[in-house]
Amino acid sequence: MKKYLCLLIILLFSCNNNDENRIAIVIHGGAGIILKENISKSKEDSIINKLDEAISKGWKLLNEGKSSELAVIETIRILEDSPLFNAGKGSVFNSEGRVENDASIMRGNDLNAGASSGTSNVKNPITLAADVMNHSDHVFLSGKGAEKFAKDRNIEIVENEYFHTKFRYNQLLNKKEDNKYGTVGCVAIDHNGDIVAGTSTGGMTNKKWGRIGDSPIIGAGTYANNNTCGISSTGSGEYFIRTVAAYQVSSLLENHDFDLEKAMSKVVHLKIGGIGGDGGMIGIDKYSNIVMDFNTPGMYRAYVNKDGQKQILLYKN
Ligand code: ASP
Repeated sequence: MKKYLCLLIILLFSCNNNDENRIAIVIHGGAGIILKENISKSKEDSIINKLDEAISKGWKLLNEGKSSELAVIETIRILEDSPLFNAGKGSVFNSEGRVENDASIMRGNDLNAGASSGTSNVKNPITLAADVMNHSDHVFLSGKGAEKFAKDRNIEIVENEYFHTKFRYNQLLNKKEDNKYGTVGCVAIDHNGDIVAGTSTGGMTNKKWGRIGDSPIIGAGTYANNNTCGISSTGSGEYFIRTVAAYQVSSLLENHDFDLEKAMSKVVHLKIGGIGGDGGMIGIDKYSNIVMDFNTPGMYRAYVNKDGQKQILLYKN
């Protein structure tokens, strides 16, 4: 009898443990005025296909037992290599007609983090951010110093022209944004229950030379803590910095007993929206629940949840 009781307890424990450590992954490709009537069918298909490719790669890695850190890096690299998003290849131009990239990554199990800003020749800024986290004594490198570090680490370097696309150049010429924040981000939880979040961006069209947005700022654009959640943001970065947006969600879970949905809603709609900011967030909590919220008409987003269900969404409904 005692033996069976022991077995039952072990079984219950392992079920509960599995439940808490079920893999899940979520990505965004930016929020903004994303309306079905403004997007051609072929563009819609291209975006859906790329989000599908990225989320499927990340989930496959997690399913093979790889770490959430690797899944986040590899997933974001796919989005950075696509001209469809405002990160890496598809980055927007600053007011000087150059591309300057920002990125960050944070690991929830040891609260280590890495970030880079203002790089103009690092092909995959998320890899640079990860190397700052794993191979330096620092959290945040910028500009020429970040590029020198990237070269020393043998990270792929490209000419600034690599990032130049006609579509983004026309946006600069017209001095207008396309009403989308095409930043990319990913949050994943692996079999160990480790949560990692990462974000990568070209920033805002026509931004001043040297402007740094929320994406590389730990606590604003990106945050992860295994005890609470992981978050990646997209939107008008200045507002996310002013509200310490990503950390604020985590803090509501840690200090005020909010669940992720309630916490993200408060930050996106009341805190950011309340001071005139727009954009959205994706997140995963320690129970592998996924939440995606935004105060704009749409947000490119996709996930594979803890039950293995995949969904790709662009618009509000
Ligand atoms: N948050 C980014 C920034 O302000 C922009 C974006 O999300 O597209 O740099």
